Amino acid sequence: MNNVPPLDLSRQYALIGDEVSAAVLDVLASGRYIGGPAVASFEQSFASYIGVSESVGCNSGTDALFLALRALKIGLGDEVITTPFTFVATAEMISAVGAKPVFVDIKAETFNLDLDKLEAAITSKTRAIMPVHLFGQPLDMTRLMAIASSHDLAVIEDCAQSTGAEWDGQKVGSIGHIGCFSFFPTKNLGACGDGGAVTTNDPAIAATVRMLKEHGQSARYLSEEIGVNSRLDALQATILQIKLRHLDTWNSQRRAAAQRYHQLLSPVPRVTLPQELPGGKGVWNQYTISLKSQEKSNSIFPAPHLPPSPHLRDLVRSKLQESGIGSMVYYPLPLHLQPVYKSLGYQQGSFPVAEQAGSEVLSLPIFPELSRDQQDRVIYGLKDCLTGLAEFSD
Ligand SMILES: *Cc1c(COP(=O)(O)O)cnc(C)c1O
Repeated sequence: MNNVPPLDLSRQYALIGDEVSAAVLDVLASGRYIGGPAVASFEQSFASYIGVSESVGCNSGTDALFLALRALKIGLGDEVITTPFTFVATAEMISAVGAKPVFVDIKAETFNLDLDKLEAAITSKTRAIMPVHLFGQPLDMTRLMAIASSHDLAVIEDCAQSTGAEWDGQKVGSIGHIGCFSFFPTKNLGACGDGGAVTTNDPAIAATVRMLKEHGQSARYLSEEIGVNSRLDALQATILQIKLRHLDTWNSQRRAAAQRYHQLLSPVPRVTLPQELPGGKGVWNQYTISLKSQEKSNSIFPAPHLPPSPHLRDLVRSKLQESGIGSMVYYPLPLHLQPVYKSLGYQQGSFPVAEQAGSEVLSLPIFPELSRDQQDRVIYGLKDCLTGLAEFSD
């Protein structure tokens, strides 16, 4: 039987390979590798896809976050509120500009910032909120923007995992003051290398980002500020331009796969499914379940003793692996417990929901080309493995 990988990018290439190869050869022959019409035209297409007036390409999602913070002049002495349950780049860039990340716990159902706890974290030093639409699921942006505006705070959306996701009919990355996107190959819109973009409706912010990403030069060889070198190159822009045309189809294929997981996994004991908020339209960069050693309260199944959650998740993961089914753990250790953030003074117990998620989450294979058969294998594999474990501990 074929294995089920967590992600299979070669299948996407097989689908659009001819078109991509031809376009790439054209760029190679053109001699224009940095900047030029390919980059400008992708920036325009991406801005109109997201529904903003400005999009600026850069080297990565990490750089997009850095450039966004710098464009808002956030730095030493400032605080930025974000989630501890995300890829390190989110908080890392807050630190990189000299500001201090302030964490707020997440909601177990969505893995996103708990907005009930947000206001308590706002101080006189807070300059911005940096929400992450984790795993492709949008936050309640209506409520977040209301909180931000009542405290006069900027909102920088980390959309790295959520290209194409919508809140209340609007694409994420067009609702806050700035949106930051990653085109890392595993994201919903992925390049064949690194890439990123900053989106905004504010022309002044876009102009500052353009300056900062070109060494802080306002004109060639006229340096205004300390900047960086962060470019989206012509090859990546060309590939992204082609892929952007397929993104809505791919995202709806991901949505269909998620729907199927919802249906077929909901009766499985010990599996808690990810939830989508009523106003949100997620794009399922990951389909992430939680594995609980304690039985769900509404379950009709008896509750045999099982190993504690971290063990259960890890056991399940290795059992799946043995039967050729890939899965991933995003993220085992929340940021407030990472060695690099020891100095912030948080402890075990500071953010119990994020900590529990870290020990229970398992991301199942999801990508547009995932076949029904493959998905069935994942579902039966998971059921088998949880039944087997229950019998074992009885
Ligand atoms: C991938 C990712 C980033 C960083 O993007 P890169 O392009 O890899 O630099 C930032 N934030 C989140 C939530 C991500 O998933």
